[in-house]
Formats: sequence, structure tokens, C-alpha cells
Amino acid sequence: MTRILVLNTGSSSVKYRLFDGTATVAKGLVERIGEPGGEVHDHETALRQIMEGIDLAGLVAVGHRVVHGGSEFTRATVIDDEVAATIARLVPLAPLHNPPALSGIDVARKLLPEVPQVAVFDTAFHATIPPEGVTYAIDAGLAQRWGVRRYGFHGTSHAYVARRTAELIGVPADRADIITVHLGNGASACAVRGGRSVATSMGMAPQGGLVMGTRSGDIDPAIVFHLHRVAGLSIDEVEDMLTRHAGMRGLAGENDMREVERRLAEGDPAATLAVDVYCRRIREYVGAYLAVLGRADAIAFTAGVGQHSPIVRGRALAGMTALGISVDPERNERNAPVISPDGAPVAVCVVPTDEELEIAEQTRATLDGRVAG
Ligand code: ADP
Repeated sequence: MTRILVLNTGSSSVKYRLFDGTATVAKGLVERIGEPGGEVHDHETALRQIMEGIDLAGLVAVGHRVVHGGSEFTRATVIDDEVAATIARLVPLAPLHNPPALSGIDVARKLLPEVPQVAVFDTAFHATIPPEGVTYAIDAGLAQRWGVRRYGFHGTSHAYVARRTAELIGVPADRADIITVHLGNGASACAVRGGRSVATSMGMAPQGGLVMGTRSGDIDPAIVFHLHRVAGLSIDEVEDMLTRHAGMRGLAGENDMREVERRLAEGDPAATLAVDVYCRRIREYVGAYLAVLGRADAIAFTAGVGQHSPIVRGRALAGMTALGISVDPERNERNAPVISPDGAPVAVCVVPTDEELEIAEQTRATLDGRVAG
């Protein structure tokens, strides 16, 4: 029995899943940590509760999801004091995401001192993007000094989905050109050539790119100055608006795509525009990544919206037949694994993501590598 515990520690929640090989033997979620009325005061109590509730016999490793690995981490890494300190140094780049992951790491190391712990970074998969794809055209010295560059996120999802898509269409992963479109609460697109990320839509932080549930995605940077100088919003207020009150929530007052689609069906104008903006942005990125790759074997949709919304997939890719991209309405409607017509030059796929499984597999591979090395 070789079990791996995967922990995804957020600011107010801890998600866990215990794997035996690729099988899930336990999973769950502790929510509302530290919130008024919440049952659990802090991450340590939450993790203790989780570990008391599951059978840890045969546990060989703990895999931690860490959002930001900066330029320092280009692969999953066994955690020691130095690695933990480096993750802590990266907090300014991910002030909302890295601190809870760190407390998860600290507590898990304390509770399970004999068990190796591995950090799996959302950014690491994108370490293969060439310099011209990660460099912003701003003052080069400032960018260098403050770590301002594209890092990209959702890497475990894009890596997993690209591999699965290659299997699904029967093209060797190391030769496949795939555009993956992850549409959850957060959303990002990725161009994957031969299993390596060569472009992605999120940037220095998980804010840029596609329109999301509550985040704007790409905007003109001048909007920030305008809202500050002319509308009188503070920088904190602008940040709060762009991260928590923008995206579908900003446009339609609602970040749950199911609800937006329900209102779309009733002809609600705000919901209609919101869906149009959302789909248009996906289309623009698919076009851009088709140009980056020069060709594509497949476009794969994943995560909550990507796996379940025929409306979004259909609208995002409508009218692209001349580019080899088309969607069969009947297959699209039933979320079939392949929703393009037979023989289409570019396969369009619906591929469920599994970030926890990918974290478990990367954790295992990292430990095997360490043992082998
Ligand atoms: P997270 O990024 O939190 O993991 P998910 O991948 O679960 O999020 O995606 C959440 C989004 O998926 C929500 O906006 C939700 O409305 C949307 N979603 C889930 N099911 C459907 C559906 N049947 N149709 C449209 N959207 C859906």
C-alpha cells in the first residue's frame, strides 16, 4: 500500500484527498476556517481533524498544492526548510494564495514529521514558455528587480488535460499540439506543444487572460489609473473590484455560470452581454494560440464551465470552420468526449480535469526521482 495525501489549503478551506495508487480512498473538505460561526478556528485544527479522520497507514508522501512557485520552482519539489522559506519569500507575488498553502505545509510537516512532503506548483508547468511569451514590455530593470513577468497558473490542470486529450485522440503526447481551455471559477487557456506549455493566458498573478467568475481577465492597464484618479477609488478598492466584483459577477451580477445561462435563456440583456464577452475572449485566445502553435491537433475544454456548458463551447468556437474547427451540435449538447464531427482537422474535446490526481502523480514521480537520483 503506497498512499499519498493531497492537500489543497486555501485561505478559509482545506480540501484533501487520499490516494492509493490512482484510486481515491478518502476525500473531503473543511470549510469556513477562522470565519465567524465556522466550526474550525485555524488551519492546524482543520488538518488535525482531517488526519484523525483518515487511515494514514502506508502513507508515503503528502503532496501540497502551492499556487505560486515564482521563477524559483520549475517542477514539483520535496519540501525542506529552505524550500519552505523560498515559498514564504514568494508571498508578495501571491498574497492571497501562498500564505494558506504555507500554513498547510507547516502543520503537515509538524504532524507527520517522518513523511516526505512535496510542493506541486500551479506555475511550474509554464516554465517551458519561451522568454518572449513571459516578458511584459515594461521597464526591463524594474521587471527584473520585482519579479514582474508572466508565470501562468492552473498548470496541473493544463498538464493533465493535455495528456488525457492526446490519449483520447490517439496522438503521442510528445508530438501533439493542443489548446487547453480551463473554465472554472478561475479560467485560463494554454498552448501545449509536445506536452510542454508554450503560452498561457494568466500572467504574473491569476488575474489576466480570460473572463472569469469574479475576475476581469485582460484589461487595459490605463483603466486602473482612470478609476483611481478620475473615479477616486483607492488602489485597494480597484484591486478588490477587479478580483472579486468583476468578470461574470461584474457584468451580470452573478458568478455562477448556471444562473447566468438561466437568465440568458430568458433574454436578460446583462446576462446575454456577459456570455458574449466571456465567449469572445475564449475565441480570441484560441485564435492566438492556433497562431502560436501554427497548427492544432485538438482544443480541449475542462473544469466546471468547460465540461458542462454546450452554450459556451459552441459560441466560443462558432464560425471557425475555415480554420479546421467545428462543433457538432448533438455531441456538444451531451458533453461528449469528442464534440467535433468525425474527420475534422482539429478535434474539439471535453476532458474532465483532475488536479488532485495530477498532484498525487507528480508527488510520486518527484519522490521516485529523488530515490533514483
Ligand atoms: P473551481 O475553479 O472552483 O474548481 P469549477 O471547476 O467547479 O470551479 O467550476 C465552477 C463553475 O462551473 C461555476 O461557474 C459553475 O456555475 C460552473 N458550472 C458547473 N456546472 C455547470 C453547468 N452544468 N453549466 C454551466 N456551468 C456550470
